[in-house]
Amino acid sequence: MARVTVFTLGGTISARGGDAARMTGQEVLAELGAPEDVVLRDFRRVPSSSVTHEDLAALAEEVRKTVADGSGVVVVQGTDTLEETAFLLDLLCTTEQPIAVTGAMRRPDLPGADGPANLAAALAVAADPACRGLGVLVVLADEIHAARHARKTHTTSVATFASPGAGPIGTVVEGEPRILLRPAVPAALCPLRFDPSVRVALVTLSQGDRGELLEAVDDRFQGLVVAAFGAGHAPAWLVDPLADIARRIPVVLASRTGGGTTLSHTYRGPGSEYDLLHHGLIPAGPLDPAKARVLLHTLLSSGAAGPAGYDRPRITAAFAHLNGTGLA
Ligand code: ASP
Repeated sequence: MARVTVFTLGGTISARGGDAARMTGQEVLAELGAPEDVVLRDFRRVPSSSVTHEDLAALAEEVRKTVADGSGVVVVQGTDTLEETAFLLDLLCTTEQPIAVTGAMRRPDLPGADGPANLAAALAVAADPACRGLGVLVVLADEIHAARHARKTHTTSVATFASPGAGPIGTVVEGEPRILLRPAVPAALCPLRFDPSVRVALVTLSQGDRGELLEAVDDRFQGLVVAAFGAGHAPAWLVDPLADIARRIPVVLASRTGGGTTLSHTYRGPGSEYDLLHHGLIPAGPLDPAKARVLLHTLLSSGAAGPAGYDRPRITAAFAHLNGTGLA
């Protein structure tokens, strides 16, 4: 079995008693009775809502070095923002080594705590050569999900992680990973960078929206993701404000529905996806708003914007790549 390094960041898996103090990485591994050859990196001890961009940049750097040394990796963190960490690592660590991200929904002191089982499954994935070359994987409830699809879909269920529109790519059965499907393309064709100082706004539209939050998207931000209605729709009166912002910074059009891809030409009236794209917005395709924000952040950190403006074709191609409609 390959060597595995475990990075612990905190989260429910370490929240015995539910107060602010979190268990050490050593204690988290001890709950499982983890094998002694596992290398522990007690990285942070925070709820995942408090993981910062600086934490993520440092984590990605450490994970990159670790996989370059030939180790598989497990990242253990809270489930609330797990999908964003996993997708970011997928974009930053283009490696054949398995990287599994896991956590828990039930505290270690509650009946039916799922942390030990999830950690055991993630360790099995990270050590298994059959899990190489799949990109970063989210492993919970004996399911293996590709990071680009995985989402937390329920506030309390231990089966909260799902891949809407795709499904899990494998399962863990009797302690062994079984891969059923492989992602069609790597998440990124070359490793992207992540600059914590880049700011990307995420604005979710709501019925009757008058655009006050869009007005707040000023020069503090280098990019904007709009979580729009349905397949990429906005009120007709927000088209001009969105087009104005898209002249300054990239504006990515995502869907707030939680599944499916944005469309391009099914509806053509004011505020339709066709209208918005022809006013300069960039389609997120199948990426949900949170993941679209992560991808846009990495592109802006990797030279897709500068004093002369932003590289719209490059950003559009990167999103299209994950839609299976083009190569970045
Ligand atoms: N689910 C939370 C998290 O994502 C729980 C916590 O506060 O630890 O970290």
